[in-house]
Amino acid sequence: MSVKNNLCGYITVFAAAAMFLISTTGCTPLEKPDTDQSSFSSASDISAVSEEEKENVTSDKNYSLPADKPDGTESEWQIRLVNINNPLPESYKPETVSFPNNAQQGVSVDVRMKDALDDMIAAAQKDGTGLYVYSAYRSFQRQTELFDNSVGQLMQQGKTKADAESETAKNIAVPGTSEHQYGLAADIVNADFFVTNPSGVLDVSFDETQASKWLRSNAHKYGFILRYPKDKTGITKINYEPWHYRYVGKEHAANIKNLGITLEEYVK
Ligand SMILES: [Zn+2]
Repeated sequence: MSVKNNLCGYITVFAAAAMFLISTTGCTPLEKPDTDQSSFSSASDISAVSEEEKENVTSDKNYSLPADKPDGTESEWQIRLVNINNPLPESYKPETVSFPNNAQQGVSVDVRMKDALDDMIAAAQKDGTGLYVYSAYRSFQRQTELFDNSVGQLMQQGKTKADAESETAKNIAVPGTSEHQYGLAADIVNADFFVTNPSGVLDVSFDETQASKWLRSNAHKYGFILRYPKDKTGITKINYEPWHYRYVGKEHAANIKNLGITLEEYVK
């Protein structure tokens, strides 16, 4: 059986359990557009950008919001906001290319970020940190399947359709509102993820890995931002996802990281 088939199996078998056991918002299959902050004990145990990480932004440039604040509209593709309040049209489909993904399972990635992703993975490898792209581009159809499967499972448990949809929306992005559909998002984990996490389920324990630490300190150099920081769930409406990185280009990434803000705060 190929690694890809194994992955599909993992997702199938564990998807239902994962949706209920995990307090995070795994992007495959655990997108979570709503905020459930019950998993956070207090605001004091959270911090989006540590002082140490801020110091890693090495530049003599002063970081600030652009004088003419970008509005994140379609023309500004790097910082286009895709969230529960800014859905994509159903017809949206970026140009994608196959990404070999460490010669293991291949994924599709948006051509606009492929080189940056390549560069970042190579740089991490050079530093002794193996990265693995768990999930990248996801079609509208795939997102709909994930959403509908969850609704169906909850209805089988006796919930009404409305309740099932409402509960599902807390764990899986409503079709059209996932950054994975936009193309510029990647869920990135440690290269030996399936050894350390046989269930194949993304959870916040990834935060403790060297891969996560490397990404937090270095991703901006390649144009990626940690999209859903721990202390910004009230703004992003998505729980902390240490594996979910969004490509915004190097300049925006440096600004956003150094300012310690989210894409929601960076654009209008
Ligand atoms: Zn994701």
